[in-house]
Amino acid sequence: MKQRFDVIVAGAGASGLMAGIQAARHGAAVLILEHMDRAGKKILATGNGKCNFTNEKQGIAYYRGKNPAFVLPALEQFGLEETLDFFRELGVRPVSRRDGYYYPASGQASSVLEVLLMECRRQKVSILYEVGIRSIGKENGSFCFDTKQGKFYSRTCVIATGGKAAKKTGSDGSGIPYVMGFGHKLTELAPALVQLQGKQSFFKTIAGIRAECCLTLYIEHEKAAKDWGELQLTDFGVSGIPAFQVSRYAAYGLLEGKNVRVSMNFLPGFSREQAKELIQKQFLVYGEGKTAEEAMIGLFPRKLNLVFLKESGIWPEKQAQSCRKKELEGLSYLIQHLESEITGTKGFDHGQVTAGGVDTDEICPDTMESKLVPGLFFAGEVMDIDGMCGGYNLQWAWSSGAAAGKGAADFAAMCTGMKHSDGLQQKKRGRT
Ligand SMILES: Cc1cc2nc3c(=O)[nH]c(=O)nc-3n(C[C@H](O)[C@H](O)[C@H](O)COP(=O)(O)OP(=O)(O)OC[C@H]3O[C@@H](n4cnc5c(N)ncnc54)[C@H](O)[C@@H]3O)c2cc1C
Repeated sequence: MKQRFDVIVAGAGASGLMAGIQAARHGAAVLILEHMDRAGKKILATGNGKCNFTNEKQGIAYYRGKNPAFVLPALEQFGLEETLDFFRELGVRPVSRRDGYYYPASGQASSVLEVLLMECRRQKVSILYEVGIRSIGKENGSFCFDTKQGKFYSRTCVIATGGKAAKKTGSDGSGIPYVMGFGHKLTELAPALVQLQGKQSFFKTIAGIRAECCLTLYIEHEKAAKDWGELQLTDFGVSGIPAFQVSRYAAYGLLEGKNVRVSMNFLPGFSREQAKELIQKQFLVYGEGKTAEEAMIGLFPRKLNLVFLKESGIWPEKQAQSCRKKELEGLSYLIQHLESEITGTKGFDHGQVTAGGVDTDEICPDTMESKLVPGLFFAGEVMDIDGMCGGYNLQWAWSSGAAAGKGAADFAAMCTGMKHSDGLQQKKRGRT
């Protein structure tokens, strides 16, 4: 196999494949080095195997990190429309489901991976698997990849090794030493889009319930984040989209040793007054001959009803109409403010993404090139950007991968141009 390339990409995940394709489309000879036995394992796991690959709503509000505005130039160059066109041209028909989430019409994440690999073959992008990169450094002006399969050289290097989340898919944090070897700083890493562990014993009773809920996260009693959707109650705490959306803030709060709590509102569309009225009607108007437990039937799943009654101190067998207004006020308050202390997250292995990464202050936002090492580029989750649930992490992989691939190809072409003009200069000098 040839040893010298214009662009070598470390990591054949979403961003690495996109970087490789775009670099090749801009004329570069590209090699992708992957340490797993296949490419894009994480892509296959996305969107429960259906791959929510972008979202019709885009903007800075959907991205997190020390400097979320860092995403804007890459999104301007290769945003939603470019992503949809890119996949349409490769044969994937995008369909938009709930809230603008885009999936391939096949309903299979494997289609997204397959078309990326087909395009790699078409663009003559080489991919080497189970490669085991020992180090990446500079030798005589070129990047040198010292691997178990020999040394490879390139004019430019794209690091697309992902973060530390879901390490069984390949992103195990082993790319981080390469980044640090080039002198780049990392912001603190934390699991994100991850389940939260709660202290309260009631979770054991209500495990398995899914309910519409507005979840508010408090750190040291200050509101830190809020999300509304289907909450999944588990025996350890909370899961589902609202829990995922607030989880990065919880993870950082816990890392800093702060008090982290969630407040669950199971009547999210109701004002305080409306909630009070609903419960009073349920007990005092419709509750004739019913126990408190019976008066709650039809409002929430039975086990959740029992938790609400227990936590607000109402005996389930008590006659509904004998409940005092104060008690019912307490019950309706609790339904809108069921609290739990958060003791931990389920960690990187269960997280969908990594918050934190290469400090974006040290990267050019339009090309993803390092401000410290010319010719070094980054793509995807390895950088300090994480997206909300809804296709934003893959969108970041596509956008940053496209910018890095084009940037790396342009850089390599510039080096070749310089070499040619060096040669011409030397020839000219030789003639005079
Ligand atoms: C269960 C799950 C569901 C998800 N669902 C969605 C979703 O529906 N929508 C969405 O937008 N996002 C989703 N995500 C997040 C999304 O998949 C990632 O943010 C995205 O894949 C990141 O792309 P990446 O290329 O930066 O990193 P990765 O996809 O992690 O790719 C990194 C690649 O680099 C390789 N690698 C790592 N270290 C080395 C090394 N030392 N040498 C060589 N190769 C290396 C890895 O094996 C891997 O192939 C989900 C994640 C998970 C885990």
